[in-house]
Amino acid sequence: MPNTKYLLIYDVTNQNDSGAMGDMARRAKSIVKHNGFSLLFDKGYHSGKELSKVQELGIDAYVAIPKVPITSQAPNPSYNVENFKYDHSSDTYTCPANQTLTTNQKWYKTPNYRFKQYKTKACEGCSLRSECTLAKNGKIIQRSEFQDAVEKNKQNILANPELYKRRQALVEHPFGTMKRQWGFDYIMTKKTKARASADVGFIFIAYNLRRLFNIIAKDQLTAYLRACIALFLATKIHLRQYILLQNPIKQVLDKIQEMRLFLSRNSQYTTTKNFGYFHSGF
Ligand code: SF4
Repeated sequence: MPNTKYLLIYDVTNQNDSGAMGDMARRAKSIVKHNGFSLLFDKGYHSGKELSKVQELGIDAYVAIPKVPITSQAPNPSYNVENFKYDHSSDTYTCPANQTLTTNQKWYKTPNYRFKQYKTKACEGCSLRSECTLAKNGKIIQRSEFQDAVEKNKQNILANPELYKRRQALVEHPFGTMKRQWGFDYIMTKKTKARASADVGFIFIAYNLRRLFNIIAKDQLTAYLRACIALFLATKIHLRQYILLQNPIKQVLDKIQEMRLFLSRNSQYTTTKNFGYFHSGF
């Protein structure tokens, strides 16, 4: 079961940001100091390597699954790789014609991950070949080192379709309003990313205020804002008093002031005439 009590929902339109999912999960875990929450991510974040990082942190991830590109599909989609059965114990695939695809255990490298290849000589005389593959040497499956993490995410998504709908309902709508209705469909980053982030922050504040005005009745909102202002002022007064009390210079100045008052009220102690008396008091 997903942990729906705490959800971190993320949207992305920049595919290059996908490398950050594992880091975001790690930061979120260090902030809340536990991993009892679920992550919902846009399909732009779908990366086996990042999914693996998130799962290693013990966090449930629900990343939307991108469509398989047409170039990676079989002539008949019924023979796509997802319809081949993988067996962990023997490290083999079984195809729809019930043939076993094996690997030579060699890892091949790409810039981001390693993979193994699986194939069978049975493709040569297979009557289903034209539906299964156009490759000259028969069907070849590439299995990434992160395929288990990808499969786990797929199971999560399929078992909880309502979660993805929730992500769309909660995240797509604000972005749609800000980008399409308000026209904030680009940001200027040439004056540093920090300033651009501040611009975006203001847009989000404006959106949140507008949502508040729409959700809460006017009299309720007025009462709430008044209560906030009263709380702020009360806190400010108490904070000021606390700072003054904690300030050692102020305490010394207060003591000096007390002594001055005492001496002015008892001026006989300050005269030379009574100096001896003053001393005899010790
Ligand atoms: S072409 Fe090869 S992999 Fe495809 S169904 Fe036939 S034997 Fe199986």
